[in-house]
Amino acid sequence: MVLEENKQKNILVTGGAGFIGSHLCKALIDEGHYVICLDNLFTGVKDNISDLINHPNFEFVDHDIIEPYFRDNIDEIYNLACPASPVHYQYNPIKTIKTCTIGVINMLGLAKKNNAKILQASTSEVYGDPKIHPQREDYYGNVNTIGFRSCYDEGKRCAETLFMDYKREHNLNIKIVRIFNTYGPNMTRNDGRVVSNFILQAIKNDNITIYGDGSQTRSFQFIDDLVKGLLRMMNSDLVGPVNLGNPCEISMNELASKVLKLTQSKSSLVFTDLPEDDPKRRKPDISMAIKKLNWSPEYNLDEGLKDTIKYFKKINK
Ligand code: NAD
Ligand code: UDP
Repeated sequence: MVLEENKQKNILVTGGAGFIGSHLCKALIDEGHYVICLDNLFTGVKDNISDLINHPNFEFVDHDIIEPYFRDNIDEIYNLACPASPVHYQYNPIKTIKTCTIGVINMLGLAKKNNAKILQASTSEVYGDPKIHPQREDYYGNVNTIGFRSCYDEGKRCAETLFMDYKREHNLNIKIVRIFNTYGPNMTRNDGRVVSNFILQAIKNDNITIYGDGSQTRSFQFIDDLVKGLLRMMNSDLVGPVNLGNPCEISMNELASKVLKLTQSKSSLVFTDLPEDDPKRRKPDISMAIKKLNWSPEYNLDEGLKDTIKYFKKINK
């Protein structure tokens, strides 16, 4: 008898040409599933899925999730579509909110019609500039509703609400993961987030741009750890929200020093203005993921950075 978990599934990955989505599509293909990658290529790129594009179990659909998408026989949906870098989500803030609300309603409707499981890629940004440290899932957060980051933070908070309401009203099988800062290969050159910025600047011996005084902290997880967590969550009984992140907290000054050392760069540090509402500290409490998913990150920052530096050196040639 074929076990339910081993059956080939039809899995929709929205945002599948993006950084996280492309790694997830590959992992699902490797598990033998049929993967439909839905993406409007706003921040995603075809290069990220070039190894998959001719695979018989892979299909790319150029589609914007703020428009309804009709399809039968979908077993699972991973909803990752949304720009994630502050530069990109602030480029067209109203579009970001539409993606997080209208887009999410479209994907929840698709899940309802197909009786499919659906997972939402939420974010540590729902905690805003946190007053509780580290952040546990039962912390309600400290989010500015009217600032430059609000289109993303509030959009993602509303998406969580929509997921829970679809569960309560329609008994949908939902999952919510709150992803903390993730980095690795397939981030684009113009991503704008700190790890890719510092690495690219360091390998070109350009100035390293530290926003503010660099004392603000983040906790960075390597992409491979996150992908394992996403798969574990989809195959669990847990609804969430659950934090997925690496609790290893580091300041931006320390991160810059690490990148300079690992790249043996001659770059200098330059300090520029801190963007509005930039959270001062961020570190996940991952007790729930450890206990309920038997998941914890395996990569340390040095290992992950080395792999990422290798990737950027290759694409930067
Ligand atoms: P990314 O920008 O590389 O990927 C997002 C993908 O979504 C891109 O391929 C983009 O083209 C696509 N997209 C955007 N709007 C769309 C729309 N309206 N319709 C269809 N496709 C659309 O970002 P990422 O880092 O891979 O993030 C993926 C998801 O994970 C996002 O939902 C993000 O909020 C969440 N997340 C990421 C992090 C992180 O550190 N990387 C942290 C927390 C949450
Ligand atoms: N940051 C920085 N230099 C950069 C890009 C970002 O110092 O070139 C800082 C940014 O101000 C923030 C941290 O790095 O404090 C993480 O920023 P990122 O955009 O990667 O993610 P987020 O702020 O969403 O956590």
